[in-house]
Amino acid sequence: MASIFSRIVAGEIPCYKVAEDDRFFAFLDINPMVKGHTLVIPKREVDYIFDLEDDELAGLHLFAKRIAKAQKAAFPCQRIGMAVLGMEVPHTHIHLIPLQKESDMLFSNPKLSFTPEEFEEIAAKIREQL
Ligand code: AMP
Repeated sequence: MASIFSRIVAGEIPCYKVAEDDRFFAFLDINPMVKGHTLVIPKREVDYIFDLEDDELAGLHLFAKRIAKAQKAAFPCQRIGMAVLGMEVPHTHIHLIPLQKESDMLFSNPKLSFTPEEFEEIAAKIREQL
């Protein structure tokens, strides 16, 4: 069965989309650690990031770089933190997290909640900066 992220890419499950190209896709994390927390994924479903082909791994990072620059412009912060866990969803994803301080990156922090309108506004702010 397709992963939940493949179903998002296919448009079967809604998301707050930030960007896509032919190989990669970016959307807001639904349980954000901070405002603007975004996931970037390869459209091709591969569980473990280090099982990606070299070219795909490199491309994913270049795509993440584009998104991170837009996030930083949309939500001024010290830097964009990057993390890969994959403990929950078996489809490679990079977390891109606007950081004001080191502890913003602690995955044990309580997650924020936003209304659908707020999520859409956050995604739109990032898209405007692409
Ligand atoms: P992990 O696999 O440990 O990196 O965690 C999976 C991440 O995906 C978590 O931060 C979840 O909040 C996020 N997530 C799970 N389902 C969705 C979804 N349908 N839309 C957006 N983010 C999701």
